[in-house]
Amino acid sequence: MSDLTQLSLEAALSGLKAKEFSSEDITKAHIDAIEGAGALNAFVTPSFDLALEQAKASDAKLAKGEGGALEGAPLGVKDLFCTQGVKTTACSKILGEFTPTYESSVTANMKADGMVMLGKLALDEFAMGSSNETSAFGAVINPWKAADGAARVPGGSSGGSAAAVAADLCLGATATDTGGSIRQPAAFTGTVGMKPTYGRCSRWGTVAFASSLDQAGPIAKTVKDSAILLQSMAGHDPKDSTSLNIDVPDWVSACGGSVKGMKIGIPKEYTMDGMPAEIEALWQQGIKWLQEAGAQIVNVSLPHTKYALPAYYIVAPAEASSNLARYDGMRYGARVEGDNLNDTYERTRAQGFGEEVRRRIMIGTYVLSAGYYDAYYLQAQKVRTRIAQDFKTAWEQCDALLTPTTPNAAFPVGHKFDDPVQMYLNDIFTVTANLAGLPSISVPASLDSNGLPLGLQIIGRALDEDTVFKAASALEDAAGFNAKPNKWWV
Ligand code: GLN
Repeated sequence: MSDLTQLSLEAALSGLKAKEFSSEDITKAHIDAIEGAGALNAFVTPSFDLALEQAKASDAKLAKGEGGALEGAPLGVKDLFCTQGVKTTACSKILGEFTPTYESSVTANMKADGMVMLGKLALDEFAMGSSNETSAFGAVINPWKAADGAARVPGGSSGGSAAAVAADLCLGATATDTGGSIRQPAAFTGTVGMKPTYGRCSRWGTVAFASSLDQAGPIAKTVKDSAILLQSMAGHDPKDSTSLNIDVPDWVSACGGSVKGMKIGIPKEYTMDGMPAEIEALWQQGIKWLQEAGAQIVNVSLPHTKYALPAYYIVAPAEASSNLARYDGMRYGARVEGDNLNDTYERTRAQGFGEEVRRRIMIGTYVLSAGYYDAYYLQAQKVRTRIAQDFKTAWEQCDALLTPTTPNAAFPVGHKFDDPVQMYLNDIFTVTANLAGLPSISVPASLDSNGLPLGLQIIGRALDEDTVFKAASALEDAAGFNAKPNKWWV
């Protein structure tokens, strides 16, 4: 039997249905691959016994011609989604020994559809970061090696998900995106990352970072695979008050649809000083690809783009500081005893949280404090409204936007770790979609001169994932990106 880990999710699902191989076969092939990929550090908690049990149950269903949309497919889950009976750490010491008694709505949907869960994937601590280096359980290494040989970060915060998909350790994975954490790691690893419209996926049972920005979505090998996964993850959930009570359209069929006559906007503010010429050239190439596929290109302006990153780095820490107040050592998670109650709080939080998380909590409490609320938080909220307005104006001229996903390819491990501002600058092209709640996808488009993947991003109107998937499929077809990292870790 050929190597089952090489298959796309789409091909694997049809192979399972046609009984060319069993779920147990393909699950075992992935377990072997994971066991041989310790050097990548992508999985924090494997759940192989559970996976094999689920695979057997799927095989029984498949034998009867039954089963859901993901029946028997071995997948990975970012360790931010609570999984019943399987440790969920958010890659933080404070949740290091936390095993939920309940299942997040997103993973519950996927389980109901027949997912086989191989294990929990690493992330930046509490999803705060762009490189996966803030994880309390060690950095994840990008499967892609540059020509210079220096190990690269896989991006973050969903670096484990992206690395695992790129290295063929799972057929696809869940991820979350607060400011770019699905799309940036996808761009850094040659995978597809899709963040749907805010409210499409339930946030219930997903460890909260910044609730008004957090959105779940898939990292996958192809655009169609990402649609298959999102189709299962999304849906109304009464347990999340911001979950949208609307039907989930057939996104899988949208993939591959024509872009003839589609108007693609090119926002002039996304041209940055100091952006590598290769990224600019790829963007121009993307414009050509879409044009050749029949789309019409229009120049648009999003004048408040330059305020997006500062606004994001006020709003996200503000919400994080409030969300993370629950980790006080009293109810669950780690606890470090002190001399009195306050001392116990302080010790627990000082030792339980890593440096970046503590930095965010301090920024967040500062911008929300009585004297500074108006100067920072309120201003940032106003900027957010302007950014949403910019997009609304753009939609009068176009149906979707094309931009680079990131201003650079994957950087070396350790390179930006001590310079938070440099790290934050990596999110420059991705945060706007979160601030405005819009669907957005990253598609692998080429390799740079160092041999590292680069991605292009499509941003669409709220709830118009259809157009985003269509444009992304057109880019995918034109780019024909099928490079794979050399398996140096095996
Ligand atoms: N890199 C961004 C941050 O550190 C985005 C993280 C995310 O989307 N979860 O906040």
